[in-house]
Amino acid sequence: MWLVKRTFRTLLEVPGKERTMKKQFSVSFILASILASSTVLAGDPAYYVRKATWQEAMRASREELLKFEVQEASRQASRLKELGIQLGPWYSIGPFHSPSADPYGIIFGPEVKTDLNKTYADGKLKWVKRPEWEDGVIHRLSGDGKSGEGEVVADYMFRNITASKAATLPVYLGSNDGIQVWFNSERVLAKDIGRKAAPDQDIINLNFKKGVNTFLMKVNNRAAAHAFYFSMHPGGGVRARRCEQLWDFLGRDFPGETERHQMRWEREDKIWGKDCKPDDLEALAESYAKATRDIGALPEQAKQLAANVKTPNGLQKVCELYYSSRLYDELITDVQRKLRLATDQFAYLQSKYKDKKDDPEWKSYRDKLRSLQQTADSMLAEAGRKADFDSLAMLMDIESDLDKLHKAHLPRIPAAPKGPVCFPFDLKQVRLLDGPFKSAMELDRKYLYDLDSDRLLHMFRVTAGLPSSAKPLGGWEKRELRGHTMGHYLSACALMYASTGDEKLKAKADAIVAELRKCQEALGNGYLSAFPEEGIKKVIYGTGGWWAPWYTLHKIYAGLLDMYNHCGNEQALEIAEGMAAWAKKHLDNLTEEQTQRMLNVEFGGMNEVFCNLYAVTKNPDHLALARRFDHKVVFEPLAHFQDKLTRLHVNTQVPKIIGAAREYELTGEQYYYNIATFFWDQVVKARSYCTGGTSNHEHWRTEPYVLAKELGPATQETCCTYNMLKLTRHLFRWNPNPEYADYYERALLNSILSTQCPRTGMMMYFVPLASGYWKVFNLPYDSFWCCTGTGIENHAKYGDSIYFHDDNSVFVNLFIASELNWPEKGVRIRQETNFPEEEGTTLVIKTGKPIKLALRIRIPYWATKPVTIRINDKKQKIRSKPSSYVTLNRKWKNGDRVKIDMPMSLHLHRMPDDPGLAAIMYGPLVMAGELGAEGLLLHMQYVENQGVLRNVEVQPTPTFVADADNLDDWVKPVPGKGLTFQTVNAGKPRGVTLIPYYKLFGQRYAIYWRIHPKKQ
Ligand SMILES: [Zn+2]
Repeated sequence: MWLVKRTFRTLLEVPGKERTMKKQFSVSFILASILASSTVLAGDPAYYVRKATWQEAMRASREELLKFEVQEASRQASRLKELGIQLGPWYSIGPFHSPSADPYGIIFGPEVKTDLNKTYADGKLKWVKRPEWEDGVIHRLSGDGKSGEGEVVADYMFRNITASKAATLPVYLGSNDGIQVWFNSERVLAKDIGRKAAPDQDIINLNFKKGVNTFLMKVNNRAAAHAFYFSMHPGGGVRARRCEQLWDFLGRDFPGETERHQMRWEREDKIWGKDCKPDDLEALAESYAKATRDIGALPEQAKQLAANVKTPNGLQKVCELYYSSRLYDELITDVQRKLRLATDQFAYLQSKYKDKKDDPEWKSYRDKLRSLQQTADSMLAEAGRKADFDSLAMLMDIESDLDKLHKAHLPRIPAAPKGPVCFPFDLKQVRLLDGPFKSAMELDRKYLYDLDSDRLLHMFRVTAGLPSSAKPLGGWEKRELRGHTMGHYLSACALMYASTGDEKLKAKADAIVAELRKCQEALGNGYLSAFPEEGIKKVIYGTGGWWAPWYTLHKIYAGLLDMYNHCGNEQALEIAEGMAAWAKKHLDNLTEEQTQRMLNVEFGGMNEVFCNLYAVTKNPDHLALARRFDHKVVFEPLAHFQDKLTRLHVNTQVPKIIGAAREYELTGEQYYYNIATFFWDQVVKARSYCTGGTSNHEHWRTEPYVLAKELGPATQETCCTYNMLKLTRHLFRWNPNPEYADYYERALLNSILSTQCPRTGMMMYFVPLASGYWKVFNLPYDSFWCCTGTGIENHAKYGDSIYFHDDNSVFVNLFIASELNWPEKGVRIRQETNFPEEEGTTLVIKTGKPIKLALRIRIPYWATKPVTIRINDKKQKIRSKPSSYVTLNRKWKNGDRVKIDMPMSLHLHRMPDDPGLAAIMYGPLVMAGELGAEGLLLHMQYVENQGVLRNVEVQPTPTFVADADNLDDWVKPVPGKGLTFQTVNAGKPRGVTLIPYYKLFGQRYAIYWRIHPKKQ
């Protein structure tokens, strides 16, 4: 949005008389487009179609919508012709957000198709053939959005536009950041084109907040309306509906168009609308209301003018006022958001550092903040009254003052600790004993054996020009991301070896490393990957697109380092060092600005892995490489305690923050400490569900503490939990606070153990948290999602966070049956438990001679009933409170037994923004309601991709009328069945049986419930 502002500011600086209406119009027009597009990005609501069967529903709705789009497009085309506007060049370039469209689609008239085919005969263009499109009007170019079609088309377009400067036709282009185009005979980055344009050219360049898309527009009045229309078109009714008012205006200039839209909405209502869940409709209505909210007097003026529109100029004036009101709305929202950020920021620091309350520096900050808030409030009110361009300018100043306050004047905070104060044990020192975690590990081990080494190596060999006759792996391994599984696989084997001592598996992984070495040698310059060097170079040098090549390389680096660290494989370290030298050679060519641009493409934890390499090699180049991946736009706000995470892609961010955590550990710099600790606090406390998981459709789509409407079929990506747990382990080392371990336990049980299929060992991608869905797992050789990769690691390393230690004490963080061996102290601790089936645990000390040692036992946050501890059957006097440690410091003898009883109880996990919506928990366990397996076929549970969860039949879920504060009154244990409960006299229309989510498979379920208060 900053670019809009800058453009607008420039506009404001133009002396009054030169400020043409036309320019104002363009700015406002684009703003409106952005508003429309960004609302879609942020809140594309999910639809759940209820029909006879889900397959039918999916097919029917797709086909109907497609057919309809085609008819519509044909109609639009002939209408344009009638209006004397020739069809080409008219462009609307994706990626489109349509549930029915290809990931990437471009629609053209026939002459453009012919031209394109003539100009670019290299086979890059893939035309979609559909019989109903062979009417000579509409052609669709289709691709995956990553293979360069967009670039070709942009080239073509700008050649054409340059050729005919007089063109009055609309151009609307959404393109990737790195795209290059010809403009006025010069090859430039699309995003720079605005700066190159002559003053009389209405090409205005806007960059989305995240640098995701660049929008270029050539706009003039009537044509603008069409451009807008087409930008609205894909995805259908939702966007069109948001612009209903606009269409009221346009309808006057283009008779018939409004009715046509009306028809389309009705049609789409038929397809989508009627079966929407009430919640979706509510969200839809809300976003619509927001988009069209009246601010100041502008819309009123616009309406009056609209009533008298007779000429295109009149229309222009109307649109101008209309869009100005939108701009206004957006700016006010921005100021309000910044006010909130400042308040939240200070509140966070105050709660973190309670002793600073009376510090003069903190007091002065509080005063500054207060006075700025008052100014902003009064200016907002004034601006609302005046509703003119001058008050917009005032608002912008306030906004920038708030920015300065955020950064420059923050009060000093206490210094970060010097470094870690406790440490995990080497995974080799912990062995799991029988129980659910060991079972999961064993299933995982089986899968690691099942995966064929030659198939894993295939694309590495092909890329290196070495022979391979293996069958390629399927799923994501067929795509640009190929090779990521290899990295995860090496990590998983290394972790599994450390956890079990399985020499055979180690030998399998060692042999793979040796083959990878051959590939690297064949390539000859240090580079190693399953995709060609061109892929990563495109991203490094900003010359094109490739699907997250650094992300994939990160996995390979990490796998090699794990092989070195856990299996002592020196060759793996050599390969990684060679890869790092390759990386350095290329990254050294970049300026800081170019580096930051590169970092906008997902890069996994490259900063983490270079830190880990540095920790081994002590080569300062490796630490410098790590720091090159400090992503400023993400790090800066976090370092200043600002949550600007809304709309970001979650699993792109968490690994970066783990990298920041490692950078703190290696450099001691406060900057990184702030980033990691604040990020954790925000994600865990303000952006996570009862399960400890976070994200929805892989993103944070809402402001902090706003989660109630995020429950859906694609809530919570499992990779995010994997990474949050990794981050938590670092934070616990710096500050062994029980809340870190509490979170670890909650997420591990409910979001990791629960995501492996107990029959097949396969793993989940999304964890649906909306009611009525089921668990969906990967296919063994044809999925290879990111979450398959992190999944095989998850189940291989349960032993790594059960115990931590400092010089003379052991933290017992998790209640997992296991044996810890601490040879330096000559002691073993055997943890015997059936937890969570058993509500406690027993620790048995094995030692050759008595040993003085402090056992620090975590008393979990959920242990609200009295905890008892017995040493050798003797009850100890302890003072325990939930979320704390009980320290047993004594001289231990061989055979000493510590028995800990921690009764669990039922409690609710309420939605922060909708307390009537809550999950039922028992101790650390999320309890899921069993909704039955009716109609749930195997191919719906084991899939290549996640589409199976979209547009499916979801039955209404029971709600409860009950006393939410007294769960024991209406949630009763089922006699003879451990960890099973039943609701009694509360469910409407029926009660449900609840079992732990980690034990529920092969059926539909519900996790969050609507609980209505009982009428007295
Ligand atoms: Zn994932």
